[in-house]
Amino acid sequence: MKIKSLFGKDKAVFSFEVFPPKKDSPIESVYEKLEEICALQPDFISVTYGAGGAGGHSRTCEIAAKIKHDFHVESMAHLTCVNSTRGMIDETLEDFRRNGIENILALRGDYTEGVAPQTDFRYASDLCAYIKSKGDFDVSGACYPESHVDAESEVADVLNLKKKVEAGAGHLISQLFFDNSLFYRFLERTEIAGINVPIEAGIMPVTNKRQIERMVSLCGASLPPKFAKMMQKYESKPEALRDAGIAYAVEQIVDLLANGVDGIHLYTMNNPYVAEKITRAVKTLL
Ligand code: FAD
Repeated sequence: MKIKSLFGKDKAVFSFEVFPPKKDSPIESVYEKLEEICALQPDFISVTYGAGGAGGHSRTCEIAAKIKHDFHVESMAHLTCVNSTRGMIDETLEDFRRNGIENILALRGDYTEGVAPQTDFRYASDLCAYIKSKGDFDVSGACYPESHVDAESEVADVLNLKKKVEAGAGHLISQLFFDNSLFYRFLERTEIAGINVPIEAGIMPVTNKRQIERMVSLCGASLPPKFAKMMQKYESKPEALRDAGIAYAVEQIVDLLANGVDGIHLYTMNNPYVAEKITRAVKTLL
């Protein structure tokens, strides 16, 4: 099923993100968690693509195929191009096709320190256009409510985003954010720019302090004072921090749904407990 067919109905789309296990762990190590996550019946599940690119696709493809064919939830494979030649992308697309993967989140990917990027695709928009030219894939892209860290300005970033949509991204998933007002301002910028594809809000519940600090330093998301206070108060009590993180994410989602967002994309961190608590809290509101 093509993900674009999920939008425009009388219901917000509710999707999850999972990641494949590290190279040195057996792939089966995530199956049990994935099965539990799939049992929550989100509209689709996306599977990240290992940083570093080359050779990292096989587990993304295998996990996306497992989710779709064995656990019966539609899947989307992430694909980055920063470290890939055209030939490598062709191979990966062939692998996706062979495994029945119809939906791809086309990304540039982050530069790896000390590794010269490949030059066949410079931006995600180049990859979007290429994938569209290679067959019947449904292509989506990433977007950044607080602008991408490399962007010259908010305006430049949103104009670049428009190029990505014109190149074939039919749906966008946002970077995580903790302050909904920043997301609403971003939606206004996209509207002014004439970007009119569905945009899902990316929500990451805090499951532990180290994880959130790492994510925030990577993507530059700002921490509102009430979020920072919560982290400070519960930092040495992992269960309390997890429960406060779930409550914070639920509050964000309720507000986003009340404001009519197209969809919620939950970064599950492969944690079925957290995904279940949040799903149960919001499923009647979608
Ligand atoms: P682009 O859209 O190419 O944008 C990158 C920068 O270039 C931006 O500053 C943009 O303004 C600028 N730009 C774009 N087009 C142009 C142009 N034509 N001219 C000039 N400037 C331009 N990373 C992974 O390694 N694996 C994953 O699975 C993964 N999944 C992700 C999922 C989501 C929902 C998000 C939000 C991010 C994900 N990332 C992942 C991280 C992502 O790869 C990085 O944020 C990366 O730095 C940018 O990727 P992009 O596709 O957004 O790039």
